[in-house]
Amino acid sequence: MNLPKPKNDELMFLPLGGSGEIGMNFNLYGNSGKWLIVDCGVTFGDPTYSSVDIAMPDIVSIEDSAKFISGLLLTHAHEDHIGAVHHLWPYLRCPVYATDFAAEVLTRKLKDVGLEKEVEINRIKINSKIKIGPFNIEIISMSHSIIEPSSALIKTEAGTVFHTGDWKIDYNPQIGEGVNKKRLKQLSNENILAMVCDSTNVLVEGRSGSEEDVIKPLTNIIKNCKERVIVSTFASNVTRVNTLAKIGVSLGRKVGLVGQSMWRMVEIAKTCGYLTDLPAFISEKDIKNIDKDKILIICTGSQGEPRGALNRIANGNHRDINISNGDTVIFSSRVIPGNEVSISNMQNKLSDLGVNIIEATNDCLIHVSGHPAKEELAQMYSWVKPHTLIAVHGETRHINAHVKYALGQQVSNAIPGRNGSLIQLAPGDPRYIGELEYGRLIVDGNDLITRNSEVLKQRQKMMYNGSVHVVLFTDTDYSLIAEPNIMAVGLAETIEDDNPEDFIKSFIKDDIKSYYKSKELDKNYIQESMTLALKRSIKAQYMKKPLLKLEINILN
Ligand SMILES: [Zn+2]
Ligand SMILES: [Zn+2]
Repeated sequence: MNLPKPKNDELMFLPLGGSGEIGMNFNLYGNSGKWLIVDCGVTFGDPTYSSVDIAMPDIVSIEDSAKFISGLLLTHAHEDHIGAVHHLWPYLRCPVYATDFAAEVLTRKLKDVGLEKEVEINRIKINSKIKIGPFNIEIISMSHSIIEPSSALIKTEAGTVFHTGDWKIDYNPQIGEGVNKKRLKQLSNENILAMVCDSTNVLVEGRSGSEEDVIKPLTNIIKNCKERVIVSTFASNVTRVNTLAKIGVSLGRKVGLVGQSMWRMVEIAKTCGYLTDLPAFISEKDIKNIDKDKILIICTGSQGEPRGALNRIANGNHRDINISNGDTVIFSSRVIPGNEVSISNMQNKLSDLGVNIIEATNDCLIHVSGHPAKEELAQMYSWVKPHTLIAVHGETRHINAHVKYALGQQVSNAIPGRNGSLIQLAPGDPRYIGELEYGRLIVDGNDLITRNSEVLKQRQKMMYNGSVHVVLFTDTDYSLIAEPNIMAVGLAETIEDDNPEDFIKSFIKDDIKSYYKSKELDKNYIQESMTLALKRSIKAQYMKKPLLKLEINILN
């Protein structure tokens, strides 16, 4: 179905990304003929195609309705909420609403693609009210693993919905106002039709913990280090950078930053008035001039990213920073699923250099998650008392578990958010009313391509099976007039006298004989028949299904 035009008494919800995966959040609310988008993010990698680095929601189902979109509201500056704006805005062309920090992060991205003058960015304040088309929105402060996280209380003629964004309950978040408990508790009297809620950590018991909790353990670990200390964390976690910098100062260590994205985020945070009470950070090139026990380095690359700063340090090819026996690397971060192998490869290299590696565990609280665990979810249900819980921001297993958990906690109704499934929240009981096309767009060089693109399939096939290209020159009787030209790349190892190109050549020479003097046969038919026969023969010989192209050139 196409995106409908909701009536004044209708309130609709449609996720096109983030409900069925962690990443690429994209949510729509509809009322009075208009739509509001909440968040527009990317995801990294793809479960099917290993060549994919960045993907985002395919918004084909709403492109024709762009004129009915009142605006795009960004809840915070994490990539899974903001990272697709500079790719997708040309198809949306609507005003954008963001807090100062998110607006600054976005502006830099828009500059990279020359869109900064075209996109209207409206700066919003935490705990304030704005109107976007028919949507009266209250921005309510939350806590999370980035500064200025916000939720949105969206009021319409048809009713009110509470969109949590990413959140946790941290009563001492170190930076920012934290979760606005007073206002959230009032919502129980405001007839909230639905709470659209973060499901990331629904499988985690207890609470996520406070930023305050990591200060003591990190201080104790760093205090006992005699040599150089590198702490790796996410560049966007400005609060953690602040925590670490203060610990460094308290222990008499200067604080250096390593990694482009770390410098970028810190610069943006300072522009927005954060981190101003810290001494200047030491630049990458000056770190080597400071005694090893007098510096604390905060570094990007905790996920073992190939070009990440920490990986380059571990490989010994970072221009300014080296690491050696007796130094310590602390991972004040979590393992993002899918990165286990790259992280352990990097840690093996560090270990080989004699480096002490310290990771977050239950007994070593040096990182806290930014998402609510079970107790925090239950607390939020009891504050807001929504009629319906809609679980989003999670893989299917998280979303289904969230629905079950909410029902078990006396929330009267709970529905799983599903990409492409349109939910009518009012009038009447919330229910699915239709399916819209959804999918993934992949950043491929300079292009945005769909996940079903032939190019991706071919590349994947080549990656696992190699490719074979055969060019034949024949006369009009289909008799070869030159040796077949064969190029087999990545197909199979040459073992003793079994060379794949020779094998293919002799097969072709044999096979084409059956068409000799077949003037009545069309060239395409022969090409297709030979391709099929060659595919079978390669499969039988090498157990491979390469990308295969065969062309016949008839020379008169
Ligand atoms: Zn987030
Ligand atoms: Zn998120």
